[in-house]
Amino acid sequence: MAGKITIDIEKCKGCGLCVAVCPKGSIVISSESNAKGYFPARPTNVDCTGCGECAVVCPDAVITVYRDDSRKAGSAGQRREANGAGVSRG
Ligand code: SF4
Ligand code: SF4
Repeated sequence: MAGKITIDIEKCKGCGLCVAVCPKGSIVISSESNAKGYFPARPTNVDCTGCGECAVVCPDAVITVYRDDSRKAGSAGQRREANGAGVSRG
């Protein structure tokens, strides 16, 4: 796994944009609602590359992306954190 995400499910409105944009199908909509009655997105993290597309598209900025750079950096377990605002595209 090269990446993973976490989602603040209590702040998620379940709009599904992250599900639609994920190229790996690594996010699903939960069958259980949060405290506000929304059905939040839930990361499966299967095949997640840490690309950050989900965090960029999320209108509520509730997704945090973790990217495992250990192979590039040569030190195991080193991670770079990027939230929606911090991901640069292109
Ligand atoms: S970081 Fe990329 S691959 Fe991972 S869940 Fe988000 S959109 Fe999908
Ligand atoms: S884009 Fe953001 S608000 Fe919409 S379902 Fe995904 S995590 Fe929730």
